[in-house]
Amino acid sequence: MTKDPSIDSLFRSAKKRALNEVGFQKTNDILSDTAKELVAGSGEKLIAFAFTCECSDLLCVADVHLTVQEFERISKRKGWFCVIADHQQVDIEKVVEKHDTHLIVEKLPGLLSGS
Ligand SMILES: [Zn+2]
Repeated sequence: MTKDPSIDSLFRSAKKRALNEVGFQKTNDILSDTAKELVAGSGEKLIAFAFTCECSDLLCVADVHLTVQEFERISKRKGWFCVIADHQQVDIEKVVEKHDTHLIVEKLPGLLSGS
């Protein structure tokens, strides 16, 4: 029995997009370390930094403004990503929190395995 190639290619595309988001999150992890040093230097914990939108569009250059604490709360949860409004992809993720400036999305099960 052969798998339906169109479903397979859709899944591959979905997984590729999901993995793209992991790449943005790694970028944001590096930004977070820098932001933490800046916060420690200033003593001001509520500064919002321009993190990168973690949506699946590789060409997206939108910023998500988050404090270091908020970014870390999101990044600690496996499968959670911060994106700006309307950048969620409903076929690969669900919105778990809506905020004024951004959304927190969670990847649907199975898309991040093997990453
Ligand atoms: Zn985006």
